[in-house]
Amino acid sequence: MTQTFAIEVRELRKSYGPVEAVRGIDFTVSSGEIFGLMGPNGAGKSTTISILSGLLQPSAGEARINGHSVLSEGSLAKASLGVVPQDVALYPDLSARENLAFWGKMYGLRGKELNRRVDEVLELVGLSARQKGKVGTFSGGMKRRINIGAALLHRPKVLIMDEPTVGIDPQSRRHILDSVLELHRQGVTVLYTTHYMEEARELADRIAIMDRGEIIACGTARELIRLVGEQTRVELEVQGKSDLAAGDWSTLRGVHHVQARDGAVTLLVDDADAVLPPIFETASARGVRVLSVRVQQPDLETVFLHLTGRALRD
Ligand code: ADP
Repeated sequence: MTQTFAIEVRELRKSYGPVEAVRGIDFTVSSGEIFGLMGPNGAGKSTTISILSGLLQPSAGEARINGHSVLSEGSLAKASLGVVPQDVALYPDLSARENLAFWGKMYGLRGKELNRRVDEVLELVGLSARQKGKVGTFSGGMKRRINIGAALLHRPKVLIMDEPTVGIDPQSRRHILDSVLELHRQGVTVLYTTHYMEEARELADRIAIMDRGEIIACGTARELIRLVGEQTRVELEVQGKSDLAAGDWSTLRGVHHVQARDGAVTLLVDDADAVLPPIFETASARGVRVLSVRVQQPDLETVFLHLTGRALRD
C-alpha cells in the first residue's frame, strides 16, 4: 500500500513568463507534522503554497492534500485544508466575533455549531477577551490572529501558513507560535513558511530550505546542521597552565579538536553541554582558571550560508 501524505508535492514547476519561480520541487509532509518551508524573499515559497491552496495553476507537476490532487480534485483537496494568507479581507466595523461568524457561514456553519467553533478558535488564538472589539481598532498582529482563526473554523486537517509572523508585535507573534504548537498537539498538519530561522527551529519537525525555486536541503534542523559538518565551537579564556589542561581536554569523549594559544583555548565538540562539566573539572584539577566561555552553535543561518554563499535575511 502506498502511504497517503498530508501534503505531497512532485516535480512541481511554475513559471511567470520567463521567470522560473518554482523549478521542479519534491517534498512530502506526513500527517501531524509541522513542516517549515524556509527561504529568502523570492525563493518561491508563496508560489508553492498558492499552488497547494488551489489559487494558482502549476506549469507542471502535481500537488496533493490528503491524497487529493489540487488540480483534478480541487474541492476535495480544499475541504481538508485551511490557508492563512498574509492578509485576509476583514470587516473593520465588525467585531472579531462577527468577522469570524461571517467566515464560518461561508464554510456552511450555522447556529450552535457556528457559535461553538467561533468560541474555540477565539480561544486558540488568544482573543476571547477581545471578541467584541471592532477589528478596525486591532493591531496588525491581532488581525493576523483573526486570519488564523478564520482558516481553522472548518476544522481542517492541514493548515498552510504564509509567513504568519512577518511585521507583527512580539506578543502576537508568541500567541501565533503557541497556537501552532497547540494545533500540533491536536494532530493538525502544518506547513509554515518563514524566513525566521528561530521560528523554524522552534516549531518545525522538518524543514525544507528553498532558494531560487529549488529545495536545496530538507530534514530536521539537526540533520540540516549536521550537513554543514560543523561542530560546536567552544572558546575558553583561561589563566594558568592551559597546555596541560588542553592535553586532558583533547582526550575527552566528543571533543574533536583542541587548540591552545596565549590563554585562549578553542575546542570543536559534538555537544557543548556534555563536555563543559568535565572541562571545568579538569581545569580545576590542573589549577587552571577559566575566565570566560563562549559557545558558538552552528545554526540554520550557517546552513543556508554554507549551501548558497548568501545570508538568509538579505
Ligand atoms: P517567496 O514567497 O519565497 O518570497 P515568491 O513565490 O513570491 O517567493 O516569488 C518567486 C519568484 O517569482 C520571484 O522571483 C518573484 O519575483 C516571482 N513572482 C512571484 N509572483 C509573480 C507574478 N505574479 N508575476 C511575475 N513574477 C512573479
